[in-house]
Amino acid sequence: MFQCPICHRNQLQIESSLELPPDCNWDEITLQVISCRYCRFRTLAVYKASRRGAMDDESVHHYGFFMAPNSVREVASMLQYCRQPHNARCKCAVHQALGRRNTEGCWLELPDYAHDGTFVLLRASVNDTP
Ligand SMILES: [Zn+2]
Ligand SMILES: [Zn+2]
Repeated sequence: MFQCPICHRNQLQIESSLELPPDCNWDEITLQVISCRYCRFRTLAVYKASRRGAMDDESVHHYGFFMAPNSVREVASMLQYCRQPHNARCKCAVHQALGRRNTEGCWLELPDYAHDGTFVLLRASVNDTP
């Protein structure tokens, strides 16, 4: 569970996800649909992890977007058409559409969907009251 940026309760959970191949900077890239069980806020998030720095230096970025609900719905419904969402090497149309890269091999994130900024996903600590 993660903290919801709207109601601030630790009720934000990952609904579905799509693993994408490593890119120019990141070893792991996952596109996620996340939603709050309390206030129903629903959006897209990106998890990226890299182990390319110094030894034991793993960097992780996990952030969500503030974006129009119809964009979220559109991407969320696309994800349902991939039969292997946890296979980064899946070559289906959904993986190809959402995994596009530039000429340097860097993932373009979500070029077809505008957003009004991002927020960092904070994992709920075990001591938090729900
Ligand atoms: Zn909420
Ligand atoms: Zn796929």
